[in-house]
Amino acid sequence: MSSATTPTPPTKPSPPPSSVPLRALSVSTSSPRPLRLCGESSSGLPARPLLIGGTDEQCHGAYPLAMSTKPRILTGDTPTSTGLHLGHFVGSLENRLKLQDEYDCYFLIANVHAFTTLSEKPADIRANTIGIVKDWLAVGLDPKRSTFVLQSEIPAIAELTFLFAMLISFNKVMRNPTLKTEIETKGLGDTYPFGFPMYAVGQCADILAFRPELVPVGEDQEAHIEMCRDVAVKFNQLYCGVGNRVEPKDHAKAGGVFPIPAAKLGRVARLVGTDGVNKMSKSLGNAIFLYDTEKQVQKKINSIVTGRATATSPIDEKNALIQLCEAFIPADRVAEIKANYASGKEVMDGHIKAELGAAINALISPMRERRAKYETPEGEQVVLDVIRDGVKRANKVAEETLAEAKKAMKLDFLTRTIG
Ligand code: ATP
Ligand code: MG
Repeated sequence: MSSATTPTPPTKPSPPPSSVPLRALSVSTSSPRPLRLCGESSSGLPARPLLIGGTDEQCHGAYPLAMSTKPRILTGDTPTSTGLHLGHFVGSLENRLKLQDEYDCYFLIANVHAFTTLSEKPADIRANTIGIVKDWLAVGLDPKRSTFVLQSEIPAIAELTFLFAMLISFNKVMRNPTLKTEIETKGLGDTYPFGFPMYAVGQCADILAFRPELVPVGEDQEAHIEMCRDVAVKFNQLYCGVGNRVEPKDHAKAGGVFPIPAAKLGRVARLVGTDGVNKMSKSLGNAIFLYDTEKQVQKKINSIVTGRATATSPIDEKNALIQLCEAFIPADRVAEIKANYASGKEVMDGHIKAELGAAINALISPMRERRAKYETPEGEQVVLDVIRDGVKRANKVAEETLAEAKKAMKLDFLTRTIG
């Protein structure tokens, strides 16, 4: 699969959720108990609920529960760094933005999985979690339309992980090419915890807990999605009586608890990092982050090694500078740059780097500005409220899935409700 396809103009992110006027909202209820009030700061941040009482049913926060009939999407990010980078944008975020209205979207922060490599740094994982939600809001993911899911607060995911671990062989997990690459590039050697390979099984649970049709991801996740599909197929065949000749697309119709989800790759499925070798990655020091300053962006681009000896040397079209140009500069201009290189015309890398820096800064500066609004105590509170509301909605869906899965496995001894 090619790592870069024809660039399209960057998706214009929608503004952060709109606010409501600063006043108590009247909510009619037959209950005599006090209700929650909604308020807004003067900072233009979304309204946040001020919880002053009420039952769980009454307190749905700023973003009320509404079960959607749209097909679902599940995807997410691991809080292994303070925020997201350009690879996330072209690999997954653009698709999330595009599909936010068409689908019932669940965006998951895999904070438990962050412990697979950062178990000694819980405070960092917490800060990174908040940072990623800020980036989501800054990019235009909208908690009114989509559900933000904090993995550690969804018990059904942990339970499904254990159940799914019975459906996949240990050797198959260890052969997963994405895990192998991560072990190598992150220098994990042979001392990684048991939980590290386990996260691949956990990811099947992250996804299947929400029974989505689509999973918008980058190329590195394809092996995980394949594993998730295998687990879903096996579950449906073993416990739901779905025949082994039934096509994946027909599993749900044939009585399977789990629809078989498909990966949806971004317009650039693997954005190269500034090191020119690995995919851009939070953990590898080769990323341009969405919140980097203009100067930091340019400095990182200037550090890219193109390997050209002189200003007229032929160019290797696979070098990182060209790949990033293909992702962020209009296609006709990239064709011109390449033609100049090919014809031996004198082309200074510095000029191309400046052009690329300007294009990337133009793309991310509105995001950077919106993110700055959340860098206040009030902004942090908004983030926490968005997380709390998302967890409530997510648990409703995930609990329903778990109950159906347990019923299929003849484990339905009790029912429970998670508030
Ligand atoms: P880590 O280095 O900790 O693994 P990461 O940068 O790989 O972090 P993830 O949180 O693992 O980020 O990935 C989140 C989503 O972004 C996934 O769908 C993944 O496929 C996608 N993604 C990550 N990096 C890239 C990239 N360089 N190009 C395209 N998509 C990417
Ligand atoms: Mg990753």
